[in-house]
Amino acid sequence: MSDGETNIRALSETTIQRIAAGEVVERPASVVKELVENSLDADASRISVRVDGGGTERIAVTDDGIGMSREDVQIAVEEHTTSKIRDIDDLESGVATLGFRGEALYTIGAVSRTKIRTKPRGGESGTELRLVGGDVEGVGPAGCPEGTTVEVEDLFFNTPARRKYLKTDSTEFAHVNRVVTQYALANPDVAFSLEHDGREVFSTTGRGNLQSTILSVYGREVATAMIAVDGGDAVDASGYVSHPETTRSTREYVATYVNGRYVRSSVVREAILDAYGNQLAPDRYPFAVLFLDVPADSVDVNVHPRKMEVRFGDEARVKTAVRDAVQDALLDNGLVRASAPRG
Ligand code: ADP
Ligand code: MG
Repeated sequence: MSDGETNIRALSETTIQRIAAGEVVERPASVVKELVENSLDADASRISVRVDGGGTERIAVTDDGIGMSREDVQIAVEEHTTSKIRDIDDLESGVATLGFRGEALYTIGAVSRTKIRTKPRGGESGTELRLVGGDVEGVGPAGCPEGTTVEVEDLFFNTPARRKYLKTDSTEFAHVNRVVTQYALANPDVAFSLEHDGREVFSTTGRGNLQSTILSVYGREVATAMIAVDGGDAVDASGYVSHPETTRSTREYVATYVNGRYVRSSVVREAILDAYGNQLAPDRYPFAVLFLDVPADSVDVNVHPRKMEVRFGDEARVKTAVRDAVQDALLDNGLVRASAPRG
């Protein structure tokens, strides 16, 4: 190439926006995750999730949370706007909310046709705001109950390369179902409902009991096979694990939470499986809904904000504590032999 020529060019705002959006929103389940987290952060006691076509056609999340004023909702859909932190000091002193980056509504709006209807608690009037591919197409008054509904249609309509990556409706719905299940189990005091193509998949009562939530989400066969775990020496581990004969062929039903947040932790999962000794058939996995309480400074939950990974300061200690707590529960029920290895 001769002097003065270059192949390097600045990307347009639109291109930058759509590339960034693809990193936050991978598929319908990521939209559902962000919207459900917003509803929980908004102090909702009821959250309904309705999706069509696995979420590729339409996703609607309705809550009875604090809602937004007309001014609020207009700001909320802009880039990097949040009510949850003010500056880096807030972040360092620890955030109690699930979100704080201020990017979800903006990015979801950029890659779909989005409609937000919202009314603040105790407010006089509601607002409807419509976005198409990131542009605000209209804001006006709306008759709606207190709380918020975010409706997302035609996800990735303007990013065909992304849209092509979507799997079948049933696969996409399986991801959505997993996300809603994770949050429903972690929040027994919130009434969740999930609907797909107009049919109810599950609903929980929101009456604050993990056992009844497991029944609502997984059904009677699984619920009756669950054993309470309540213990842990170095680490507080409590919840439920299934009888060794009530298993599935994937590990997705081993749900683990650290300080109330759903996390993917191979350390915790392995510890649970270890507790069963040789009682599990090959390639079979139990159901588990296990909550660990650890001091905030002994765990890093922000290793990757979207992948839900965690890192423990002392993995070996966590592993032993979880395995022993689960093993004690199984032993108490005569479901493993006392000779299973302990460390
Ligand atoms: P973040 O959750 O990181 O703050 P979002 O883009 O998800 O960023 O949301 C931006 C802001 O919009 C939130 O900080 C909150 O003030 C408001 N908001 C979003 N969803 C809701 C909701 N369901 N109810 C009330 N306020 C909401
Ligand atoms: Mg958010």
